[in-house]
Amino acid sequence: MRQLQFLILFLFSSFLFAQPKITGNVTVDMENGLIDCDFSISALPNLKDYSILLNKGMNIKYFKNKSGNLVYYEGHYDGKMKGEALEYFLADENSKLNLPNELNVSYIGAFPVYQNDFNMFDYKGIIAFNGKTLRAAEQTKWYPVIYDVTNDKLIDSYLYDITITVKGNSQLSIFINGSPPKKAQKSRFKSEKAQQPLLFIGNYNFLEKDGNFILNSDVDKETADKIFSNIEMIKKVLSKNLESDFQDKIYIINHIPVNKRDKGSNWGFNTYPTFAFAGLDFKDLINKNGKISDNNYKFFGHEFGHNYFGSNVMSGKLSWFWVESFAEYLSFNVVEELCGKDYLKQVLTDKLKIVNDKNFIPLSKITNTEQIDQTYRYHLAPLLLKLFEDQFGKEKTNKTLKNLLEISKKGTLTLESLEKSAIKAGISKYDFTAFKNKYLDNDNFKQNIINHIKEFHKI
Ligand SMILES: [Zn+2]
Repeated sequence: MRQLQFLILFLFSSFLFAQPKITGNVTVDMENGLIDCDFSISALPNLKDYSILLNKGMNIKYFKNKSGNLVYYEGHYDGKMKGEALEYFLADENSKLNLPNELNVSYIGAFPVYQNDFNMFDYKGIIAFNGKTLRAAEQTKWYPVIYDVTNDKLIDSYLYDITITVKGNSQLSIFINGSPPKKAQKSRFKSEKAQQPLLFIGNYNFLEKDGNFILNSDVDKETADKIFSNIEMIKKVLSKNLESDFQDKIYIINHIPVNKRDKGSNWGFNTYPTFAFAGLDFKDLINKNGKISDNNYKFFGHEFGHNYFGSNVMSGKLSWFWVESFAEYLSFNVVEELCGKDYLKQVLTDKLKIVNDKNFIPLSKITNTEQIDQTYRYHLAPLLLKLFEDQFGKEKTNKTLKNLLEISKKGTLTLESLEKSAIKAGISKYDFTAFKNKYLDNDNFKQNIINHIKEFHKI
């Protein structure tokens, strides 16, 4: 009986969270800038309005269906672009076909190798060969990304089982986001957790501690230890508050950009749980006190917050609230503990300025995901969660968060889930209703939040 219950539960949860999976082979020629891919993607949603996005530098050999038969596709002639990619869709003579549950695509792309010269620009969407390394983030769409037109959403995280072969010299390391890097010419990488498979391949070394890695940096062990110990401090705050172990391993990459940069200028991007920096001497991450900057505690605090509130809560009308506002709120706790109350006050003050002149719809009246825009999800709603903590205390807030995570295992989070979680955490129905009336339902909720934060934090 217990086994049966387990089976039913298992089927139920895998039904809810059927995650698309990408399987296949990639061959990279480092010297000539070639990427040759053969991928099968399974567990795709049955979308009517979609496109399959692939970097504009990729040339399609064919699309095949589940049975291995060729399928016609549009986009090869007079194609449309979306960002860095061309848009394709499967079709027969008469009409566009729905996105099948499973498809196979084979393609090859050629990219310039910037060995002794530069491009005018570089950014996350560039497939960057620099003679030493290849960097291809998810934004490049070096692998097929599905665009769900109806929901205006990209499906670019996959479970994966990918074998990578690299042509070039023999001192190579291969890394796919979410799996430890390996020193090999050929290696198979698997992830049972959905990841954006950023690729970083080349002639570089890496350092490891407790499963976290620094790639392609010549920092000494002492500096690396300090970076890792700062990371541990952040993880500890989060795991203590949420009473749940930090699971994700973190990867920090140093990469050489393909544009010329002024000395001292640096930029970074993040394809969680990878953090990539260009032009930054990693020794500069650590100050004389052995700490990273307050800004970086905040930045990493938010990103590491996705270990808890990440793709697992990315569903429903309020998805951006559950994913981004909660991660941002968690970063407040990190900086409060590691940087002090004054810095937290500065963070709150900055956010008040950002939300001041804008209009927002109360959470209970949101009808589609994009109404929670960047300012809403990164600034206003985190202030709302801070206010929740101010009113009900840290302990009950952390319990509420834990309860929400429990509910999210069974389905989409809603404001009813928030109420349930709050009441279970010991907040009275009366108090929650008062909170709800003033801050979740009220058309004047923004001003109510601003007034509270200003008064409570003496801003
Ligand atoms: Zn985030």
